[in-house]
Formats: sequence, C-alpha cells, structure tokens
Amino acid sequence: MLPEAGSLWLLRLLQDIQLAQFYPSILEKLNVTRPEHFDFVRPEDLDGIGMGRPAQRRLAEAVKKHHSRNKPKIPGGFAPEQKETTPPSDSSPFLPEPERGLKCLIPDGAVSRGELLGSGCFGVVHRGLWTLPSGQSVPVAIKSLRVTPKGPVGTELRDFLREVSVMMNLEHPHLLQLHGLVLGQPLQMVMELAPLGSLHARLTAPAPSPPLPIVLLCLFLRQLAGAMAYLGARGLVHRDLATRNLLLASPCTIKVADFGLVRQLGGAPGRYVMGGPRPIPYAWCAPESLRQGAFSSASDVWMFGVTLWEMFSGGKEPWAWVPPYLILQRLEKDQARLPRPPLCSKALYTLALHCWALHPADRPSFSCLEGLIQEAWPPEGHCVRDVTEPRSLRMEPGDPITIIEGSASSRSPSSTTWKGQNGRTLKVGSFPASAVTLADLRGSPATCPVHRGSPAWGEQSRGSTDGVRPKAKLRELPPAKGQRRNTPLQRIKGISKSLESVLSLGPCPTGGGSSPPELRHARDVPQGPPGLPPRPPFVSSSFQLSQPPGERPSWPKREPLHNHPLEAPRGSKATVPDPKLQKRVMEVELSVHGVTHQECQVALRATGGDVVSAIQNLKVDQLFHLSSRSRADCRRILEHYQWDLSAASRYVLARP
Ligand code: ATP
Repeated sequence: MLPEAGSLWLLRLLQDIQLAQFYPSILEKLNVTRPEHFDFVRPEDLDGIGMGRPAQRRLAEAVKKHHSRNKPKIPGGFAPEQKETTPPSDSSPFLPEPERGLKCLIPDGAVSRGELLGSGCFGVVHRGLWTLPSGQSVPVAIKSLRVTPKGPVGTELRDFLREVSVMMNLEHPHLLQLHGLVLGQPLQMVMELAPLGSLHARLTAPAPSPPLPIVLLCLFLRQLAGAMAYLGARGLVHRDLATRNLLLASPCTIKVADFGLVRQLGGAPGRYVMGGPRPIPYAWCAPESLRQGAFSSASDVWMFGVTLWEMFSGGKEPWAWVPPYLILQRLEKDQARLPRPPLCSKALYTLALHCWALHPADRPSFSCLEGLIQEAWPPEGHCVRDVTEPRSLRMEPGDPITIIEGSASSRSPSSTTWKGQNGRTLKVGSFPASAVTLADLRGSPATCPVHRGSPAWGEQSRGSTDGVRPKAKLRELPPAKGQRRNTPLQRIKGISKSLESVLSLGPCPTGGGSSPPELRHARDVPQGPPGLPPRPPFVSSSFQLSQPPGERPSWPKREPLHNHPLEAPRGSKATVPDPKLQKRVMEVELSVHGVTHQECQVALRATGGDVVSAIQNLKVDQLFHLSSRSRADCRRILEHYQWDLSAASRYVLARP
C-alpha cells in the first residue's frame, strides 16, 4: 500500500520500530490519520488488528516520543494558553483500560446522522443512530468537528480532543456520557442523546408551555450538585455551568454537558489560572475569575448559584440589565447580588447567596450543597378546601401545593397568607394558609424535608434580604422599547453560547443606532471605568476575522424540534388556526432541519404562502448562519446541491 502524503509520519514511525506491517490496518481499520488519534486507541483496538502486547508497548513508546518531539509545532496551537494544565490523560499515549463500557472507537459506517440539534464552537450536533456490532440501534447525539480543506483547525481540534479526553473518564448519572469517537473525516463524538434538549430552552419555552414545578427545579439542583461534587472530586473544574449546558435526558433528569471549558486543577492548590485571553461566560463568573482568570471548585459553586437563579427566573439572562464591564464592580465594590426571583423561596435564595460569597473559601462545597438543598427544600402540602377568592391562587381539595413563603411555624394571624405553587395548575400565587395542610415529610427526608433554617443563614438573610446593600440595590430596568427582555441567548457563529453576554460588553455604541445588547460586541466598547482592571479581552478571534461589523446578525436562536412531553405544540396561538396554512407550515417545517414552527410561519408570510420559496429562503438562512458566506453565495451553493441542505452544509463546513 502506498502511503498518502498526510500519513507518511505514521509509516515512518512504524518503520522505526519494525511494525510497518501494521500500517494499513492502523490507517484503515483504526482510522488513525493524525498522531493525536493514538490518544483514543485502546489496547483492545490494537489486539483487534493482531498486534501483540510487546509490540503495543513499543508503539506506545514511539508515539509518546513523537508527541513530545512535535508538541510545539501544532498548527494554530495553544500559544496563549500554554500555561494551562493539560487535560487528564495518561502518561502513556494509550488510555488505560478502566471500566469504560461502550467508550471506544466507532467505525464510520456504524453511525448515521439525522436531524440537526444545534451548533457550537467546534461544529454541529446531530441526532443520530449508532448500530452496535450486535445489530442493536442506539439513539445518540453526534458532535462533528468543523473542518477546513486542510483538515481541522489546530485549536479547535485540540479543544475537541480535550473534551473527548475529559468525557472518556467520566461516569455519573448526571453527566452526559460519551459513547465513543469516530475517527473519520470529520472527527465525530458519539454521545448519549438528551432527547428533550437544553434546560434553558425548556425554561424559556413560550406560553402555553407550562412553567416547571418548583420541586422539579429543586430536584435538578440536587442532581447538579451531585454531578459537580463528582467532577470536583476528580480535580476538574467545569467553568461553564449554566442552564444552557444542562440537557434534559428525561422530564425529570438533567445531565451536565459541554465539557469544552473543563480543566484539571493544577498550580496553586485547587486553582486553575487561565494563561491567556479565552472566552468565558462573563455573567456567570465569580469575581476572582473575572479579575484574575482564576477558576476552582469554588468558582463553579458561584456559577451553580447563578444557574439556580436562572432556573427560578424562567431562564432570564443574569445581569442583563447591567453593562458587562460593570458586573465586577457591582459584585465586589457594591456587593450587589442577583435579586431573589419570585419563584425562589428565601431559604433557596439564602443558599444562592452563600454560593456568591465574595471569598471563595466562604462558599459551600458541592458535597455540602447537596445537603443544604435538602434543608432548603420548599415545604409541600395539600389543599383542603376550594379556594376561589379573588386574587387568591385557585385550588381544589387534594391539589398538591408547594410553599414558597410561609411555613407551619408561621401560621399566625399576621401571616395567614402564604405564597406557593399549585402542583396541578403550576400557577403561583398567594392563598389563605388555612386552605393547605402541610405534609409531615420528616419521615421521608430523601425527598423533601421541610426547611429548618440554620441560625447563621437566618442572620445573613436578615441583614440583607436580597443580598444587596440598600444603597447599591439594583432595580430591574424595564425593557427598552422594541427590545425583548428575556430573549433567548443569541448565537453567533464560531462563538460559544457562553459568550453571548460577553459580546455585549459595554454601553450602547453611540451614534450607531440602538442595537440590542446581543448585537453589541467587544470591539464596539470602550475600556471600563478607571480604577477597574482592564476587561479581559473575551473575544473570539474567529469572530473578529469572519465578522465584519454590521454585516452578520447575531445567530438566531433555533429551538431544536425536541418532542417535549410537557410542551404544547409550538406556535399555537389563541386564534383558530387555518388548516390549510397549518399544513403548509408543517410542510415547510418538515423540509428544513432545525427551524421552528414560528420561523416557518414567518417565512411563509414573507413569500405570500409559497411553500417552495419559503423552504428555499429558510435553507439559505440556515446555511448563512452556518458559514461566513453571503446569502447570495449560500443560495448559489444550495442551487448547486439541488437544495440538499445537508450536502450544502457539509460543503460550507469544510470550507469556512
Ligand atoms: P459551545 O460548545 O460552543 O460552548 P454549545 O454548548 O451550544 O456551545 P454544543 O455542545 O456543540 O455547543 O451543542 C450544540 C447544541 O446541540 C446545544 O445547544 C445543545 O442543546 C445540543 N446538544 C448538544 N449535545 C446534545 C446531546 N447529547 N443531546 C441533545 N442535544 C445536544
């Protein structure tokens, strides 16, 4: 077999150790085309091509030498971040053989990609099917690395492989599982599918989608704390905790996902310091992360507090009302904290305030948080009579009620009105305390014990109910005219969703019209006020290169068409739907991957009801947002591929 130019290194390496006879099978069966691929080859894979263990050891040694010789030459490598602790990897180039279950190399032909679920920094995520050797098919999510004609971009490849390395060694019921890696072109990560999409999408799902039950949110918090305690115990920091990175594997199960920013703690004990300007989720970050780029389990705990706040605020964006360059000042100087969301009980808010202690050492650990969540669990009871009084939360006998404010000990004449959520209607409001009898849950502490606040915590909440000094208390500003509040985070190609709040750094550019915050980005923004450290330049270079100002709008949020059992059909309106129009909308929706019902309606309206043109326009839009090309270019490419969006997407992803 004649070696291809790109794989000559492999042949040479094998020749040097007298193993050249394995060149064809390593290349073709194991799909190893780059030295980094060896990081994912397991001894069983080499057994499978007939290589004995002594030969495997020779190969391991040679690959290790090859890695150390070539480290600095990785194109587009990690120059700014070379101080970074490397991801947890074995000193041997082959990963150890732990209890890894299905984590393995997966042959190209064993996976098939379906509907587009979304896109991130490194590429796109599709729903897919993985056919096991037994013939059984497993639904999976497939994340494909974005590639250029010369192969994947160096940093993206490193980050992608880093994410794989991290995920390979994790196993927890609330961490998204990696099944394996396809060493094809493009590289693909085959992961557990979370069929109900992200928690953020669920929280922000438009009416008539019902809000989530408060007890379910508490359950999610407990699951999250457990998963994070597991990560922390392995010396890992996530650095990107947010509801957008919590996926719903089932209506009652969240999984922490997106391990792209995960790092191993190194350097000063329990701390990881960023080595250079890299994107981080500004509004979720602890003060020490914003000021010094320092991350630790304690900064993850801070982010846990922000994630709690998002959950109880219906997926609102934290600090959306404060210019990002002022957030650090608000946190440190004014000691301001996010305000208590109406759905959040005082006990849970106090817990969040503890997570937001200025000094990392004063924050609770994740394992401690698991217990604290139990303690702050809102009391539950049952309605004992019809409540129909005006301005009261409607309830019927037997309705399960979660108490947000009020408790058994507060059934005094002065506090006869409680606030809570009706578990049947999911509505929140006040009601006479006498209408509800509290369940005695002391017998079932594993689920929801009644809150028994600790004195220290009570003290803190008495001192400052919202955790904000009175003079610095922030008022939530009303939305600017024409500007939607609580809009889903916007997406911009090539930049993590996590960054979207970072993109709005600074005040509105003057003279440039009143662009909404999500369209503003760091380049438009002057430095922060004097006295504050310079803002970390959290700007993706790929964004700067591919996005001339004003040319490309922010990425429209595309809600994947997850079948959420809790959601009503998207786009349903109070008006009676026209069946003909509905049929056309369905036709468009089925023809274009990843579009929402509403987008289809808008597209049809724009084309005067012409289905074909609406489909074509939406496909152009999809391609436009997937690449840095103009709409005219996208249309030409789609025409060339006879409007096959997947083929056109593959083309543009390969040539960004
Ligand atoms: P980034 O990695 O750039 O920070 P991200 O988290 O949005 O951003 P990805 O992890 O690539 O990027 O995911 C892209 C989208 O695909 C996400 O919005 C997520 O909702 C969806 N997704 C990712 N993994 C899965 C999965 N295993 N199951 C279902 N949906 C998924």
